[in-house]
Amino acid sequence: MHPAELFDAVARLVNNLTGDAQTWLFVTLVQPLLWHLHLMDMDDLAYDNLLWVVAGALQVALVYLVLRPLEWLAPLERWENRRGIGPDVFYTLVNRLGLVPLLFFLTLQPVFDHLLAWMHLHGWDNLNLDALWPRMQLHPLLGFVIYLVVLDFAGYWYHRLQHQIGWWWELHAVHHSQRKLSLWADDRNHFVDDALQAAFFAALALFIGVPPGQFIGLALLGGALQSLQHANVRIGFGRIGERLLVSPRFHRLHHAVGFGHELGHGNRSRLYGCNFGVLLPWWDQLFGSADFDTAPRATGVREQMPAPEGRGEDYGRGVWAQQWLGLRRMARRIAAALPRRPATATARG
Ligand SMILES: [Zn+2]
Ligand SMILES: [Zn+2]
Repeated sequence: MHPAELFDAVARLVNNLTGDAQTWLFVTLVQPLLWHLHLMDMDDLAYDNLLWVVAGALQVALVYLVLRPLEWLAPLERWENRRGIGPDVFYTLVNRLGLVPLLFFLTLQPVFDHLLAWMHLHGWDNLNLDALWPRMQLHPLLGFVIYLVVLDFAGYWYHRLQHQIGWWWELHAVHHSQRKLSLWADDRNHFVDDALQAAFFAALALFIGVPPGQFIGLALLGGALQSLQHANVRIGFGRIGERLLVSPRFHRLHHAVGFGHELGHGNRSRLYGCNFGVLLPWWDQLFGSADFDTAPRATGVREQMPAPEGRGEDYGRGVWAQQWLGLRRMARRIAAALPRRPATATARG
């Protein structure tokens, strides 16, 4: 079968399956509930959002069925127990079952519509890739790949900024503070960071004209690959494969304490770390931040290590502690960067 035909067939199958489940859930559960709560004017929004729930549930189930046995059969790190992973499961379900997209649409969609209308009024139109090259509509697979590459390129620079901008790093550090990387670790993020990311990528996708169905497809594929990247498995993609697609080995090195992601340590200080690629390691190779050779190391944030290596800082065990401490670190960082009042001003009189 031709790859394009296979892509079409898979897309149709997933579409039908999720569409049926979406309708069934809506009619049997959501609609009566909305009726009961006198929220019938939200039914369009609820119906649309159910697609994320259904597709997300399917994806999480598939990812778990494939990766959990692999973590059991070929683990890279041996742990005494899986304690500390629970919060990551919570983060994954909240993100992938659509709660974050729902919050985004409820809060930011109106802002977004205004912005687009304003841009249109001032002659700034969407850079619609479809319009630039109409043949793309005839080749959904090609369009899908092009959108993936464009979004991934933006993702690489987005991720580098998360490490270079002090207050932003304090939020992203929630992701890096997990010392047991598992198939659940990808969605462990600060919720403020999640909201920023959802807004940025949804805006970019709208701007370049990604069709909504393909946007969901990209999110599902991207999420599954990122679960694999964080899994505790001894899997490499081979010499060539490692350079084409981000592997668990490649991403784990990005999480390495004092090596993959921290400023001012080791020989990589100039680059603020290595292996920032989201799905494609191409940008790391192009911009000199790739490392394919260093052996796997312990993961985490230097500050959380006991002295003398770190400062024994607590990044929180539960979800709310992690969120609160992240906000506090961010505030501290911003306060430290503010210009101080000259000492003479207070010494007057
Ligand atoms: Zn990661
Ligand atoms: Zn990072």
